[in-house]
Amino acid sequence: GALERSAYYLEAKQKLSTTFGLQEFRKNQLDAIIGTLSGRDVLVLMPTGGGKSLCYQLPALCTSGRTHGVSFIVSPLIALMEDQVQQLRSKDVDADLFTSERDFSDRSKLRNRLFSAGDKPNIVYITPERLSGSPEMSRILEYLYQRSEIARFVIDEAHLISSWGRDFRDSYVALRTLREKFPNIPIMALTATATEEERRDIVTGLGMRDHLFLTQSFNRANLRYTVVKKPQRTVDYISRFIQERHPGATGIVYCGGRDKCETVARQLRDLGVEAKHFHAEMSPTDKAKAMSTWKEGSCKVIVATIAFGMGIDKPDVRFVIHHDMPSSLAGYNQETGRAGRDGKPSDCLLLYSFKDFGWQRDRIMKDDTLSHENRARLNRALEAMDHFSTNTTDCRRAQLLSIYSERFDPRDCGGSCDNCKSTDGVVEEDVSATAADLVALVRSAEAHGMKITKPMCVETYRGSKRKDLVEKQVDRLQGFGAGKGQDKGRIDRTVQRLLDDNVFEPVVLSAGASAVAREQQRLAPATVEGARRVSTGGAAPPEAEAA
Ligand code: ADP
Ligand code: ZN
Repeated sequence: GALERSAYYLEAKQKLSTTFGLQEFRKNQLDAIIGTLSGRDVLVLMPTGGGKSLCYQLPALCTSGRTHGVSFIVSPLIALMEDQVQQLRSKDVDADLFTSERDFSDRSKLRNRLFSAGDKPNIVYITPERLSGSPEMSRILEYLYQRSEIARFVIDEAHLISSWGRDFRDSYVALRTLREKFPNIPIMALTATATEEERRDIVTGLGMRDHLFLTQSFNRANLRYTVVKKPQRTVDYISRFIQERHPGATGIVYCGGRDKCETVARQLRDLGVEAKHFHAEMSPTDKAKAMSTWKEGSCKVIVATIAFGMGIDKPDVRFVIHHDMPSSLAGYNQETGRAGRDGKPSDCLLLYSFKDFGWQRDRIMKDDTLSHENRARLNRALEAMDHFSTNTTDCRRAQLLSIYSERFDPRDCGGSCDNCKSTDGVVEEDVSATAADLVALVRSAEAHGMKITKPMCVETYRGSKRKDLVEKQVDRLQGFGAGKGQDKGRIDRTVQRLLDDNVFEPVVLSAGASAVAREQQRLAPATVEGARRVSTGGAAPPEAEAA
């Protein structure tokens, strides 16, 4: 193909075998390499384990590219950089790293090399803090830039630049200045987790120009997804799940808070599951100890907050269990993505409760460091997580992939998620009448200036005499009691479907904001129970699904 004819192909192919000892490029690697060698900006979206490092390590060794000199690799984790430098050196690659934690003498040796007229390292790893915040580094970069000795800037974990992301970093924001200060240097950004919004932030944040965008399916075929309503005795349930399905196997149990990690780990141990806790407030030594006993396998189960994860690449994680609901689907994808890196079947189990949702929402509402806009974003992300958790019909994969705008045909799921597995016996039913009633009800609430939540909507429709509802005079609303005698679950699912389809806007019904019903005409052929569709974030009109 065109890539093979590229002027850079031969050298790249040769380096692949001589330096890296590999035979074939994996998907998108060659495209990324040739893209950057020809001087373009490149954005690579690749699932973890896909082979991102090669995309920037290999071109750093090529002399045929449009730009020459040092490739600077920005990465957030020092331990990971040290690892990579070591691996590269074992392959005789001239690589080094620049961090504030380094020995003074090492640092000045590297600085002297960069300032000298002699050979420069091909690859220099650097933390974002150092790249943008150190006067010494500014001088080095300026010096090299004047002499055309910077080959490219590589931004790993590029999603950290996005304020959409939940683990956004201030230090990454400063990378915005790279393009301004060094306009001619190509930028390569890589990530395993960007949603569409994050992607946009990466491109604008780094000032990328006419960039080559490379992506691939993020579907993790070997992961099984299951969501269950959180049982009363949660830890009993988890322990049984582990002992029945994955006895003696390695896994992660995520919890919403520090104290909970400690309690859950203790309870698991009492039930015979060898478990240790891990959270950000532990001392560095304790953290390192917990991490290493888990990594090397003497402790099988780690009970952790989301502080546990970045940079973990243990291949044989057989299960990821969420004791508490995460705050976004992006987070859920990231955390479950740590399961089954070796390609073997692995389980992702989410225990959902409405209480968790409320807890997360309160946390967002009470956080006064958030701007109005960011609070709204976090709320929307949480809503989407809640919809996912309570949706009992649509393919989990399709829903999880929709946040990357990836369409997934549920027929390809092969029953490897709970919803696809349990479609037997599901009845498809026309709920247009109920849907129309509910829309009218929400509209009427809006007309009365009344805030209505999802449970309120269901109860009002059923004509509930609940004290709080009576006080709010919900009997004024159109459709009050019209659903008397109807199955509550059916009404619930209909409201959920309307939410999923963005018929109510803003989609924060259950967050207590007022909802505006729109596009009533779209509702006519809607079916709810068992309606199977490719979930694309709910934007597809119902007519399309009927086909
Ligand atoms: P990522 O950073 O995307 O998580 P890595 O760069 O760490 O992934 O690569 C994951 C693994 O895949 C590594 O063990 C690496 O050596 C291997 N790998 C990468 N590219 C290739 C390739 N073209 N052929 C074979 N193995 C590869
Ligand atoms: Zn499915």
